[in-house]
Amino acid sequence: MVKRFADICFNRPLHSAYTYAVPGDCGDPVGKRVVVDFNGRRMTGYAIRSYEAEEGSFGYPVKPILKIQDADPLFGEFQIRLARWIAERYFCSVGEALSCMVPGGKREVDSLSLWDDGGPAAAAGVPCLTEEQRSAVDTILGSDKIFFYLFGITGSGKTEVYLNVARQTLEKGRGVLYLVPEIALTHQLTDLVVSRFGNRVSVIHSGLTPAQKYTQWRRILRGEADFVIGARSAVFAPLPDPGLIILDEEHEGSYKSQSVPRYHARQAAMYIARQKKAKLVMGSATPSAEAYEAMRTRKVEPLVLKQRPAGGRLPRFHVIDMRGRRELLSAELIQAVSRTLREGRQVILFLNRRGFSYAFRCRTCGFTFRCPYCSLPLTYHKRENRFICHCCGRMQPPVHYCPQCRSFDVGYAGIGTEKIEEETTAIFPDVKTERVDRDTVKNAKELGAVLERFRQGETRILMGTQMIAKGLNFPGVKTVGIVSVDNILRIPDFRSAERAFSLIMQAAGRAGRYSDDGEVYIQTEMGHHPALVHAVKGEADEFYREELMMRQAAGFPPFSGLVHLVCKSVDRDTAETAITRLAEVLQNNGIGADELLGPTEAPVAKLNGKYRFHCLIRTSRPQKYAKIVKEAAAAVVGEFRRCQIDIDADPLSVE
Ligand code: ADP
Ligand code: ZN
Ligand code: ZN
Repeated sequence: MVKRFADICFNRPLHSAYTYAVPGDCGDPVGKRVVVDFNGRRMTGYAIRSYEAEEGSFGYPVKPILKIQDADPLFGEFQIRLARWIAERYFCSVGEALSCMVPGGKREVDSLSLWDDGGPAAAAGVPCLTEEQRSAVDTILGSDKIFFYLFGITGSGKTEVYLNVARQTLEKGRGVLYLVPEIALTHQLTDLVVSRFGNRVSVIHSGLTPAQKYTQWRRILRGEADFVIGARSAVFAPLPDPGLIILDEEHEGSYKSQSVPRYHARQAAMYIARQKKAKLVMGSATPSAEAYEAMRTRKVEPLVLKQRPAGGRLPRFHVIDMRGRRELLSAELIQAVSRTLREGRQVILFLNRRGFSYAFRCRTCGFTFRCPYCSLPLTYHKRENRFICHCCGRMQPPVHYCPQCRSFDVGYAGIGTEKIEEETTAIFPDVKTERVDRDTVKNAKELGAVLERFRQGETRILMGTQMIAKGLNFPGVKTVGIVSVDNILRIPDFRSAERAFSLIMQAAGRAGRYSDDGEVYIQTEMGHHPALVHAVKGEADEFYREELMMRQAAGFPPFSGLVHLVCKSVDRDTAETAITRLAEVLQNNGIGADELLGPTEAPVAKLNGKYRFHCLIRTSRPQKYAKIVKEAAAAVVGEFRRCQIDIDADPLSVE
């Protein structure tokens, strides 16, 4: 007898879909979540295809679908195609990709969120575009290209360009997707968008409960909301006919997912734009080197904005040479802060490490305290009086002598936000200061309150990590201090120069945005580093040109593609043997010896109780290797049962 069957896939690292029978009375399950029995367990899966076949033609007993969870489809043919693309490009299963896209799948852990209080501010007027902005809008709408990049200094009015193009896209009856790096820090923007576009806007953020997320998803599917704004995963919003995708602050690392599926929202946006014939408009003052190269070769159309329509000159830079100095805050910086406070203005101090001071160090034998589970240096947190592992979160009590040689001559290397706070409060005891990082600000409400106190001028000095470097604009700020860029520059990663450059430029964007006397102080022992020199002079093109020359010489992206492979196991030998085997299989299948770096022990040699060994494929033809990599990994996992393999395409870091 002919019956209906469906292919179901699961949020599991399995590569195929499984066949189940569709009970006669429940309609077509495609696009819906279903409950089935999978190896004796009830599991939720996604129905991606259905078809008729002769019962018994499978050669094995086919189990029935137990329950269909959605009355109407949750995802359509395009989402399934997108999931297949993600799976192929980022080495995961279609089910893993779908569970990240569709609500009711994986829990979101994106970020903090702000909106539980109040509604959006009243609508302000819409400014007339400057000539630069107008010409950018005209180019985007008039050209038949699909990828554009607004390369404009901070304060150059990129937002107005996005919103203008958005308005005209909506007028044509097509949808708009607006992606931002971290929705919690874009309260101002979201308010602006809602005030201009009203209830056709859907805000997707991690503070939504699963039910709320589901509701938003449905509104978008039904076309009730055709302007979606959100962070990374909002790229999957099921707009039936997107005509414009905006991806602001393109350089931000948060667009790349750090867990399976390890997709990059920029690449997903490019895929969607091509498939749906939508326009993709990216923007930043500090593009990624990849994006800069794409502009240079005109794969992406550059639109340059050089003026600040609301006024405000770029700040003056002061580079303070910290070589041979022991103090944390230089006399120059302290003086500048006092001056600014006397004038009734405000100060932001940036630092890119949390914790009181980071690593414990024995001055006698050189011993450093490391997390036994992750092998990373532990960070001492004064408030908790504990060592905390920034990788796995495990805590340890502090020690006052060296556990290895018993010397009492021990100390802490490096500095953290908490230490800076202590010092600053000691120097300016009567001034209200606040610190923003993941230790002091645990939820949306707290973050909102801290930022509001600073905006109101109640807090005079705001300290924190990069968390406060982006997107926030406070009229009262005159002085920005970057307490140290060196710990970014010292990370052995090919992107560290780009990161340092971006931090300085973005931080500078916070100073004197509303006045002409903004100033930036940078404390460093590496004042001659090109990233710093060019950032200070505002020489973006020069920086990228040099940086790209070095990348090309060393064969790093954008001149190659990377695939990072990690074998991990509770048993060290297993992990090591497995990576050796993996490297062997890869080479036997055509990957050149010069394209394979490693295998070797990973810099993070142990994580969550598992030993880690890794290798890196660096090649000019990564797509050609996808199949080889997938098959090699599957073979090795089959051979070494106690070993797992993580595959990361275009990794952000290779630790
Ligand atoms: P960016 O995102 O490029 O850093 P913003 O979009 O935040 O810059 O714009 C900076 C400031 O300039 C904002 O206060 C904005 O309201 C203002 N602005 C933008 N375009 C215009 C314009 N055409 N006329 C007047 N002010 C503008
Ligand atoms: Zn010691
Ligand atoms: Zn750890």
